[in-house]
Amino acid sequence: MKQLHCPIRSIEFINQDTRRVVLDLPEDSPFFAGQYLQMVLPEKKYPFSIASSPHLKGQIELHVRPTPGSEDSAKVEALLDSAEFLDIELPLGDCYLEQRPTNTLILIAASTGITQMKSIIEFLAPGGFDFPIYLYWGVLSERDLYLDELCRSWQEQYDNFHYVPVVSEPDTSPGWQGRTGLVGQIALQDFDRVDDVTVFVSGGPGMVYATLDAFVERGMPEKNMKSDIFSYAPRPASKS
Ligand SMILES: Cc1cc2nc3c(=O)[nH]c(=O)nc-3n(C[C@H](O)[C@H](O)[C@H](O)COP(=O)(O)OP(=O)(O)OC[C@H]3O[C@@H](n4cnc5c(N)ncnc54)[C@H](O)[C@@H]3O)c2cc1C
Repeated sequence: MKQLHCPIRSIEFINQDTRRVVLDLPEDSPFFAGQYLQMVLPEKKYPFSIASSPHLKGQIELHVRPTPGSEDSAKVEALLDSAEFLDIELPLGDCYLEQRPTNTLILIAASTGITQMKSIIEFLAPGGFDFPIYLYWGVLSERDLYLDELCRSWQEQYDNFHYVPVVSEPDTSPGWQGRTGLVGQIALQDFDRVDDVTVFVSGGPGMVYATLDAFVERGMPEKNMKSDIFSYAPRPASKS
């Protein structure tokens, strides 16, 4: 793992609350598609998934969305408001693709969890998708789908690529015609069999473990699901 002091190349809002941050990255800073980095602040380090493909040399992209009411998020936001450089550590995380999948790949993302999936998709896309790939993106409200156009463009471009946006609070999205509910449950509804699929899940611990339990219940071997949460926030051992 490396510690780097990276110039901020650009920073811009990509919707009402999420910022895209592009950093200059030394070329000899390898990472795998799906890994994350830590933003190093004086008192604490904050994890952020890498949104760009490792193919893209010399730069790295992050999407940062503050958690309402969080003091930690406020510190990150204040830094982004004024900083010209960011201190980072990378690469981190064991939830990445080591080789091209041969079976069905299901990517399930909540909110800014889409960043991890974007890196994986942009890494695989140049070789095309000779396996079925499904991207489920769950958000509270339709206006949170800040990469909707990009996801739809993948679906138009690649025969095997399927994109399913899911809104969990449709009351806040008048006119929403798409799927509604919890993204992990919606994904599971679409598959008769899950014993030979690989699933990547990105989101908070509650969402990730609920999705794991539901897929395992339906016959997916536990080892087929990958998420940073399994090492970052391990589930407490049961007392039984
Ligand atoms: C592995 C990992 C990757 C993350 N990547 C991003 C990111 O790309 N963009 C971003 O804005 N925030 C991301 N976060 C959340 C970010 O680190 C926190 O928002 C930040 O540290 C401020 O802390 P907090 O107060 O929000 O609370 P924390 O308790 O530290 O974070 C809770 C929030 O993080 C979200 N979260 C948890 N795991 C992930 C994940 N794998 N991907 C995305 N969100 C997650 C939860 O849904 C929740 O909203 C990530 C967190 C983890 C653990």
